[in-house]
Parts: sequence; structure tokens; C-alpha cells
Amino acid sequence: GNADLQADVVVLGAGPGGYTAAFRAADLGKKVILIERYSNLGGVCLNVGCIPSKALLHAAKVLEESRDFRKHGLKFVEPEVDLDALREWKNGVVSRLTGGLAGLAKQRKVQVVHGYGRFIDQNNIEVTDAEGATTTVGFTQCIIAAGSTAVKLPFLPEDPRIIDSTGALQLKEIPKRMLVIGGGIIGLEMATVYHALGSQITVVEMLDNLITGADKDIVKPLHKRLEKQYEAIYTQTRVAKVEALKKGLKVTFEGAKAPEPQLYDSILVAVGRSPNGHKIEAQNAGVAVDKHGFIQVDKQQRTNVPHIFAIGDLVGQPMLAHKAVHEGKVAAEVCAGLSTFFDAWVIPSVAYTDPEIAWVGKTEAEAKAEGIKYGKGTFPWMASGRSLSLGRDEGITKMIFDQESGQVIGAGIVGPNAGDLIAEVCLAIEMGCDASDISLTVHPHPTLSETVAMAAEAFEGTLTDLY
Ligand code: FAD
Repeated sequence: GNADLQADVVVLGAGPGGYTAAFRAADLGKKVILIERYSNLGGVCLNVGCIPSKALLHAAKVLEESRDFRKHGLKFVEPEVDLDALREWKNGVVSRLTGGLAGLAKQRKVQVVHGYGRFIDQNNIEVTDAEGATTTVGFTQCIIAAGSTAVKLPFLPEDPRIIDSTGALQLKEIPKRMLVIGGGIIGLEMATVYHALGSQITVVEMLDNLITGADKDIVKPLHKRLEKQYEAIYTQTRVAKVEALKKGLKVTFEGAKAPEPQLYDSILVAVGRSPNGHKIEAQNAGVAVDKHGFIQVDKQQRTNVPHIFAIGDLVGQPMLAHKAVHEGKVAAEVCAGLSTFFDAWVIPSVAYTDPEIAWVGKTEAEAKAEGIKYGKGTFPWMASGRSLSLGRDEGITKMIFDQESGQVIGAGIVGPNAGDLIAEVCLAIEMGCDASDISLTVHPHPTLSETVAMAAEAFEGTLTDLY
């Protein structure tokens, strides 16, 4: 063709999906070009998502524990927050990782082209850089990995005091009174950070529960703890109106439990993310994008155009980095001629709140709704020596089993480090383990991992026909 640059595989977007796909395709011998609008690689996850949020959540944990342990005999003076130093540390964590990616790209001879990419036809993307200069990049195969963007609430005024997760992670200031719109994972993680830093937090959620993906009994211990820490949590409540006044943001709520209008110093909007499918002129390549901006793909990540693939947040829920990475590998391998499929049975979800909430496979609510004959085993952490040694007793490990075969089909865990614990259940499900495979495995003592074995044992205890 007449393109300025030409590659076997062009990857559009350098988030976890895109860089994984680019590196894998290069390792398999393809000439790869990776297109990214921003100067840093790593996408949302590394720059304004998973990583900076976890760095700040760790800082929040240190702060909260220093306060919590007063009652157990360790008295610290109230910690002093140096926001500039904290921000610099968080940025340093991010740049170590994004810098590492640039090095890995170079090592593999993946050419990175910086600029905004749009399809011009089925084999070419035009990239416009920050100065407005354009480069056409031709491809034999393409992997679209353009990710997602925070959803905006259209009725909110333009005001610097109204921020999304990206704004919250910039850590410009610590507002006195902050409203978080949205009681999902991202909203509650950011609330955790700002609460620890000293903000008075109110959370407003339209649905009847926080973190609605997980079972209610698993979310309850978190809800109870947050109710004690925060100014208010309003469920089944909507924000109807926000007026930007000089003295604050005046918020009017609606719903049966709605409070009187309130004034806040800042509002964090965390009401979900929307896929970037409509922003890349996919129609010029004939790639179908649905009305929400998602691109449909098959089990090999192929779009309706056979030589164009799509991965990550752009192809559907759950919008999580580990799903994007997995799909990136599949797409790259298929491009290289391997017969790989996306055949993961389950994808875990984690809220890195305190306590953490993690779930995988069927929730109990899903098992019930789908009419599955299931059994469950629950282990309350108040009987875990390790949990009590951490000064915590509210955790729960709940596992869901197929009643007949005893195979594990799901789990929900709440408690410190639940996110790490869920990995064992993911493996158990992928391996087709039953309850005894888990309960007969010797777990190290005293660890929180024992709660998984104990939950499996609890289910076995419910069986009457043990042989
Ligand atoms: P993205 O990471 O969105 O990357 C897409 C890339 O494409 C971006 O770099 C973008 O600049 C680029 N791009 C888009 N369009 C173009 C274009 N036209 N031209 C050039 N470049 C373009 N997930 C987890 O699994 N764990 C977590 O703990 C977690 N925490 C999160 C915390 C926050 C605050 C947020 C917002 C998200 C979090 N996520 C987390 C979600 C996670 O960040 C995403 O699922 C993941 O980044 C999706 O990867 P992706 O490759 O699909 O796209």
C-alpha cells in the first residue's frame, strides 16, 4: 500500500490488553506497530487506574491502621499527610512500570507510534500526533485495544470541584466534605483513599446495595464498617441536581430515603465506564460497533472483519485488566496462526476496599436465579486465628458448590487480602476441583488461606451421604 509505515500486526491502544497483544505477537515473530495517543504506555490501568489507586490505597491502609491500633495499645501521634510527597511517590510507582514497558517494547522491536489513531479503511489507520502531523500505518492484521472512558453525568455543571477517578488520583487537595456518586468498586476505592486522608465522605448509590456484583452477605461487613467511618451512605438514592455555588456544590437528591439538599466541597463521579468503540471511526474498516460503543468478538477475539480483532474494555464486561491481558494473548496468538481460544471459565473481581471484597464464578444469587442445585460452605473469620491476629474479625469466606458433583462453582470472600485469596478458588474452578480436593489440601497455618479450606469442609459437613 501507500502507507508511511507498514506492519504485520498493528495494535491500537497501549493499555494492558494492547501492550500484552503487541509483545506476544512480536515474540511470535510478527512485525508489530503499537499506536498510543499518550506519551506513556500502560493505558488506564497503569496511568490512571489499577496501579495509582492501589498505591494510594496502601497509603490509606497505613493511615487507618495507625489509628485502629490505638485501641490495641499502639499509640501514634496523628499522622501528618504531605500531599506533594505522597503524589510524587505514587507517580514514581507509575513511571517505573510505564518506563519498564517502553523498555520491553524496544527489546522486542515493537515500534511505538504516538498519536490518535482512526481507521481510514480495512488496512490503514491514520495517526495524528500532538502537533497535528499525520502518519498512515498499514496493517495485514489489526488488534483494537482502545479501552474505555469514565461515564459523565450530563446534568452536572462544568466545575473543577467535580472530578472523576482520574481527577481523584491526581490528589490536588483533600476536600473537607466529599460526595461520591456511585457505590461500585471505583467509587468506594477512591472514597477509602480520601477518607483516610481526612475527607468526610458521603456515598450515594442508585441501586439498593453497594458493589452489586457480589452477594449481599459478602458486602454487608464492608457496608457496616463504612457506615461507621463515613458521614452517610444513601442507597436507592439519585442525585437529581447539582448547583455550583461559591460556598460549595449544592446537591439535591431524590428517592424514598433522600436527604435534604446538601453542600459539598467536592464531588467524585464514579458511575461506570463506557467503551471507546465510537471514537476510532471503525465504520471505515467495516467493523461493527454497537450503540453502547462495544465491539462484538468471537472466542478468538475476531470482529466481524476477519483480519481485525478487538480486546479489553472495548469488547464487554467485566472491564478489568486481567481480562484484557488474557484476551490480548489470545488475539496475538490467533494473528500468528495459532488456534488459541478465550476459554477461561471464570474471571475474578476484586474491590480493594477495607475489608476487600472478591468474588468469582457463580454468586449465590446467580446460582439461585439460574435454578442451579447448589450447596454452600461458609467460614466466618472470627474463628480464624490469623484474622484475629490482624485485629479483624468481620471477614467471611463463602464457597458455592454444585450439590450433586461437589464441584466448586463460585466463591465470595470479604476481609483483608480477600483479593489474594480468591486466586485459589479461580484455580480450583478451572481445574474442576470438588470440595474434598480443597479441604484435603494442607494449607499453611496460620494464614487466611485456611478459610478457603474450612469453607470447603463446612460444605462437606452438610452432606449426609459421605462414604
Ligand atoms: P485501556 O487501559 O483503557 O487502554 C486503552 C489505551 O488506548 C489507552 O492508553 C488510550 O490512550 C489508548 N487509545 C484509545 N483510543 C485511542 C486512539 N484512537 N488512538 C490511540 N490511542 C488510543 N482493573 C483491574 O483489573 N484491577 C483494578 O484494580 C482496577 N482498578 C481500576 C481503577 C480505576 C480508577 C479505573 C478507572 C480502572 C480500574 N481498572 C482495574 C480497570 C482497568 O484499568 C481496565 O480494565 C483496563 O485498563 C482495560 O485495559 P484495555 O487494554 O482494554 O484499555
